Amino acid sequence: GNESTTPHIAMLATPGMGHLIPLAELAKLLVTKHGFTATLMTFASTASKTQHAILSSLPSCISTISLPVVSLSDIPPNSSIGTLLSVEAARSIPAITSALKELKTHHTVVGFVADFFGADTFDAAREVGLRTFLFIATNLLTLSLLLHMPEIDTNLTCDFKELAEPVKLPGCVPVPGTEILASLQDRSKEGYKWMVHHGKKYREAEVILVNSFDEIEPGAAKILRQHEPGRPPVYPIGPLIQTGSKVDMAGGLECLDWLNKQPANSVLYVSFGSGGTLTMKQMDELAYGLESSSQRFLWVVRSPSDTGDGSNYYYNAESKKDPFAFLPEGFRERTKERGMVVSSWAPQTKVLAHEATGGYVCHCGWNSTLETVVHGVPIIAWPLYAEQKQNAVMLSEGAGIALRLEKRGDGVVEREEIARKVRALIKGEEGKRLRRKVAELKEAAAEGMKEGGTACQALAEVVAIWKKKR
Ligand code: UDP
Repeated sequence: GNESTTPHIAMLATPGMGHLIPLAELAKLLVTKHGFTATLMTFASTASKTQHAILSSLPSCISTISLPVVSLSDIPPNSSIGTLLSVEAARSIPAITSALKELKTHHTVVGFVADFFGADTFDAAREVGLRTFLFIATNLLTLSLLLHMPEIDTNLTCDFKELAEPVKLPGCVPVPGTEILASLQDRSKEGYKWMVHHGKKYREAEVILVNSFDEIEPGAAKILRQHEPGRPPVYPIGPLIQTGSKVDMAGGLECLDWLNKQPANSVLYVSFGSGGTLTMKQMDELAYGLESSSQRFLWVVRSPSDTGDGSNYYYNAESKKDPFAFLPEGFRERTKERGMVVSSWAPQTKVLAHEATGGYVCHCGWNSTLETVVHGVPIIAWPLYAEQKQNAVMLSEGAGIALRLEKRGDGVVEREEIARKVRALIKGEEGKRLRRKVAELKEAAAEGMKEGGTACQALAEVVAIWKKKR
């Protein structure tokens, strides 16, 4: 047939469900709405059951390529997740180059899309004569920070945490230095250098697509939508959230059954994303806090760890230990009337869509944030790593849809504080205010994704760029 004239887009997802899920959704949109075919490249090093479930549910005109494992054994074991992902992407350039070369013999490849940690692979695309595009699965605040990093780095004389004044990016909510992106917290670390490097590299993109929408960060959207010489045009095309997720995974159906029996807006969903873990001490406080709040909860429990930065999960797939063994003695028995625990993974979008769900203790990962907004569920922010702390600032101070938790001096959130905020969100006036605000954002997000809406229009413009021959 004339398959070869169909526009084809090649995409690279660096490890982590938070990167793969929105990129897969973008591919699905391009295929179903715009007549594209697509190839999605992932890394064999981090293949997991969950990743497999997502890849195998894709429509047939999206092909997948699993990139061969590259050795990371020379990277110091305490390196940040950002460093590992960046190095892995950079070392995969030869494999990506040959994969793209091969793709070009079968398809009209109109562009190559890399993600947050993958901008180095633009070199592979350029090598084979492909145009380069960037997809940011997080928000405009984080994109703005990265784009400004080369300049900030030149002027910075201390670490972010030592800054007396919050960091003010154009149009963005001011962010205290301590809450800035985790990998930028220590200037002497490799992770910091990688971020500055990526910030430079982003400018090599012809266009930057961002999984955010104007109303959730209006100031940043206004600035980044303006044309600025030397900076690629930015297109907010979100919220793209996970569709067609598989519920038949461990515990999936069971917790939806349980939700069916709970009153509307009564259940607090508690989850820390695909990579987040708590320390043993913190897990204990959370358990007692939930118990003494007397509210209903659905908690996705992970085995505790001292690092909690996601590396355990990215590189060891699903948790091997039984996480329930770490819950306080008798906890499940005492809370069985109003609490449900699931091990490691829940069908999150279905949980958030359920009418019984009334609040979300959320790590503020961006996909989870968008999912909760799309379903109108307010947040208690419990950020752990990556850009989650600055997201929490934006969601509480900017968007006004999140309560924040006070920490003790040693960083632990105490049970009393947890119980207080849980009650405030599910039962209190504050919860009502947040629920109204998130309902407005839900409405705005849905409008944007409709035919002729802002996000729909933004994607159509990028599609036109892809379809235009150069
Ligand atoms: N997720 C899920 N079940 C879980 C935990 C996570 O389905 O138990 C999904 C969630 O719906 C979201 C993604 O995994 O789409 C997590 O992405 P996010 O950006 O929120 O955080 P990250 O995992 O990257 O920290």
